[in-house]
Amino acid sequence: MDKVVILGSGAAPGVPVAAKGWGECNPHNPKNVRRRAGILVQIGGLNIQIDTSQDFRCQMIDNNIKELDAVLYTHAHADHVSGVDDLRPFTQLSGRNLNAYATSEHIAEIKRRFGYVFTDVKLKEITQRPQVAENIIEYYKPFSVKDVEICPLLFLGHSVPTCGYVFDSGKLTIIPDYKEIPERTLEYLQKINVNVMIMPLTEIREQAYHAGMEINKKYIDIIKPQRVIFTHMGEHCDYDEVMRISPHNTVPAYDNMMIEL
Ligand SMILES: [Zn+2]
Repeated sequence: MDKVVILGSGAAPGVPVAAKGWGECNPHNPKNVRRRAGILVQIGGLNIQIDTSQDFRCQMIDNNIKELDAVLYTHAHADHVSGVDDLRPFTQLSGRNLNAYATSEHIAEIKRRFGYVFTDVKLKEITQRPQVAENIIEYYKPFSVKDVEICPLLFLGHSVPTCGYVFDSGKLTIIPDYKEIPERTLEYLQKINVNVMIMPLTEIREQAYHAGMEINKKYIDIIKPQRVIFTHMGEHCDYDEVMRISPHNTVPAYDNMMIEL
């Protein structure tokens, strides 16, 4: 059975926020406790990880994940890459490189932040570093991880261009941090049959670099997915409130939520 697990439904600081607390989230609802970004796609017998946040280690332990087949990055901000060092036990156990996929811009930024991760290492050093092999992808050029076809799509309006992913022609679509969907991406998503679509709702009201509920609704109306899951939610997105104002067939995520594809 193909499925996706929302490993972390929180925005960059998680919920509650260190030193700041719960914001508008009800602290008595466990669905408001949110780790940072992370999605595990279990498709075609593979474990494909989207982003490695500060909370990646705990997410792998919570879900008893011991093998990864690939890591895909949406962009190189701290809340999406800071857990990259915790890929090390996975490459130790497998004894081989783990393929990471990202655009050239994002690979360069991850390397700037964590240069040693991609350095060529000799076998004797294998236990000391994650063994991550870079795979540079281009927007709109599909690539495959074994038999799973993935198409990277460009999104705009965040502080950097970001990369979304469509699995198996629309079975699963993951929208990264964004505020604007460029025409070519929108045309692509309108042509395919979008089944499950995961998209960020960092705050209900739009922010300088993030879409809010109104912009999300506008694109949901255009793309017409079967189901939508809102994730990447900050401390102002109370679970019950987001549920109350979400459009038809749309629900907020919570940590470790599992969705069958
Ligand atoms: Zn970001």
